[in-house]
Formats: sequence, C-alpha cells, structure tokens
Amino acid sequence: MSTNIERKQEEVKEKNVHQYIKQVLEMIEKEEITEAEANWISKETIQHFRDHVNPGFLDYRKTVTEGGLSAAVEWSDKDSCFKDVNGKEYIDCLGGFGIYNVGHRNEKVVKAVSDQLKRQALHSQDLLDPLRAMLAKILADITPGDLKYSFFTNSGTESVEAALKLAKMYSDRTTFISTTHAFHGKSLGALSGTAKGVFRKPFLPLIPGFRHVPFGDMDMMRKTFETCALVGEDVAAVLLEPIQGEGGIILPPEGYLQQVRELCDQYDALLIFDEVQTGMGRTGKMFASDLYQVVPDILCLAKAFGGGVMPAGAIVAKEKVFKSWFDNPFMHTTTFGGNPLACAAAIATIDVLLEENLPARAAEVGEYFLQGLKDAAEGHEDLVMEIRGQGLMIGIEFERDEIGWEVSKGMFERGILVAGTLVNSKTIRIEPPLTIKYDEVNTVIQTFKEVLQTIR
Ligand SMILES: *Cc1c(COP(=O)(O)O)cnc(C)c1O
Repeated sequence: MSTNIERKQEEVKEKNVHQYIKQVLEMIEKEEITEAEANWISKETIQHFRDHVNPGFLDYRKTVTEGGLSAAVEWSDKDSCFKDVNGKEYIDCLGGFGIYNVGHRNEKVVKAVSDQLKRQALHSQDLLDPLRAMLAKILADITPGDLKYSFFTNSGTESVEAALKLAKMYSDRTTFISTTHAFHGKSLGALSGTAKGVFRKPFLPLIPGFRHVPFGDMDMMRKTFETCALVGEDVAAVLLEPIQGEGGIILPPEGYLQQVRELCDQYDALLIFDEVQTGMGRTGKMFASDLYQVVPDILCLAKAFGGGVMPAGAIVAKEKVFKSWFDNPFMHTTTFGGNPLACAAAIATIDVLLEENLPARAAEVGEYFLQGLKDAAEGHEDLVMEIRGQGLMIGIEFERDEIGWEVSKGMFERGILVAGTLVNSKTIRIEPPLTIKYDEVNTVIQTFKEVLQTIR
C-alpha cells in the first residue's frame, strides 16, 4: 500500500506531465514563435538531450558549432533550406545524408501523404492494401532489368536485413562478401556487412559467414570467391554500394561492378546493390545500377525513397530469387513496412523525380557544383587532397581530419550545413536536394572559397 504522501506525490507528478504535454502540443501547433518561445524550446531541448536522450550528442554538436551557435536547435524546413528556432536559415548540403532528393517537404509528396492520411493512415494488416500493390508495380517498371518483386521496409538497415535473409533462403548458402569502407546499417545483420571497426567490435561475433575485401579490388574479390569455393563455403551473395557513401564518396574503379556481376554469375552467387544512398536520382540516373549498367539480383532502397517526408524503404528482387518467399509470405515481415502513408510518399516522390527530370538535373548541377568546388580549392592543394563525385553525391577529401572539421564549422557559421565531425571530417560530403537552385550552389561554392582562405 502506498502512503498518503506517496499518492500525493504521484498526483502532482501526473499533473505536471499533463501540463508539460499541453505546452508541447501547443508548440507543435504554432506557425510562428516569439523570441521567448524560441528560448524556451532551446533550453528544454538541450536540457532533455542531456538528461534523457544522450548527453553525447551535445558534445558532438559542439565540435561543429561554437559559441552562441552551440545550441542550434532545428525548427522548420522547405526546399533546400532549414531554419533553427532563432530563425537562422541554412542551405542544406548534408541533405540528411541523401534523404532530401526532392527537397524538404516537397509539396506533391506532402499532398499525397496528407490526402492519404485523411482516409487511412496505416493498413489493416489483413486486407489487401492497394498502394503497396501499385508502388510495387511502379518499382518493377522503373528499376533496371527484370527486377520485379518488392518487399517494403521502414529503413535502409531493414532493407539490407531483408536482402540478406532473402539471399540466404534462395541460395541455401551462408557466405557473404562485403567490402572495406562499406556502410549497410547497424542492426546485427546489416552491421555484419558494414566495415567500420569501431561500430562492429563491441558486438562481435556478428552473423557468421561475412568476409570483407577491399572495395574496388577485383583481384581480392576473385581470390575470395575461389577460396570460398575450395573450402566448401560457397558465396550466397556479394553486398555492395555501387558508390560508397558513408565511406567518403568512393567511386568504383572502371569496370569493377560489371566484373563483380560476371564473377557472381560464374559462381552462381547473388549480387545485392545497396542503393539506399545512391538510389532515387542521386547519382544522375534513377539508380546507380542504370549509371553503371549492371543489374543486381536484389536492390535495396530507403533514405530518399520516402521523399524526405516519410520513413520508407524497399528491396526489389528478380522473380527467380523472390520466389523463395512465395510459399510462405510470412518468412520475413514488418508491421509498418509498406504502410499507406509511406507508399503514398514513395509514389509521389517517384512522380516528382520523373516529372521534373531530377536524375538528369542531378547530373547537370552535380557537374557544375563539382567543377565550382575544384576551382574554389585551387591554390589550396596543401589543404584539399581531392574533390570527387558523381551527380549530387560529392566528397571533399582533406589532408587531415582537423582541416575538414574547420571547414565544416566555418561553413556552418556562414549558414551552410555539410557533413563533417571532429571524429570524421577527413572527407566531408555534399548531398543537397536534387532541386537545389544554381544561386544556392554558387553561395556554397563562394562560401567554401572564403572558408578555405580564413583557414590559411
Ligand atoms: C544510410 C544507409 C543505410 C542505413 O539506412 P538507415 O535508414 O539509417 O537504416 C544502409 N546503407 C547505406 C548505403 C546507407 O547510406
């Protein structure tokens, strides 16, 4: 039995929670906020990140921001920009690591999602949901080769996870080949394919059967296949990002992906392309598979797939592979994957990409952007090692981590967000919306030039 005092305390606590929730809901409703409200939001956000989310994030942000900006708290977004609570606007060149291909809150995507929301948000889980069927048909039409069947997920990690399970079931083999610098997500399965030691080490052993070979090294790839066959550990699949994103925008050597495809065919292994970052127009074609003219057996999508409005992912596979799940469609499931809101977002996203010809635009603007950055870095060869990219997936590699960190910090102060942290700024990534305007690109290039000059 609780005492009177305890009961009283509980009541007070509950009342406070209610009051707090009311305050937060009122905040969500607001279109404009006053300075006092902005201060309240900042204070609350920072305090609860410290006390209830993870204080580590505050230290991490401090490495990119400084002084009065250390408390940058985001508030709203539109097109290529977002604003913090104080109304400062940033050009988003990080693009959520490739989420915002059709821009922030693209009107068509928002409309499709809110129209669907007015009718039905999530699916019954039992009846047939129409948008899932229609999106799967659209994907079969726009993906390369004979990719035909889709399974929908909520994230990139889940897409990779589904691809691995499908490959195992199809092949009845357990060996996978992945590459150095690869990023495929952080769940135990996907992490097995991911390459970075710091993220893997505490969780070893991961799923057995994973081997990593240097990305782009055809000789090692071939030898690994040979060895696996010799020791009776036949390869189920090779898991690859056609262009490595998190690894620092690493482009495949000429002919590499074709040769891996041929090798997979020779050994009857599957080829899985993780296009979570390269897909949906980012590289100048709808998929990097189109760009390199290599058709995988399973294609993984997420990030920009939901149009920067809904979390959504998918795998699209060839019939001969996907068939493994025909007998029992419950072999791999997810409650929320392929929900009506996510499908509405993905369908509208594909519409925008096609109608506005955004893949081609990514190629065009990307070329201009890349050249501009290279010109801006002229005379700074001791700081900037290489600027490379494909479409609007651009990486700037610096001589040292600290230079990259100074550059991303300098750009952030001047209203441009790029990816880069104190722990990993050797290569900063530029992945803006494919809708970014030329004058915004010019501002970014000019700012990059200025920041490089201040660093000397
Ligand atoms: C981001 C990313 C993932 C993981 O996606 P999540 O949505 O964060 O789970 C997997 N693969 C690649 C290539 C990615 O860029």
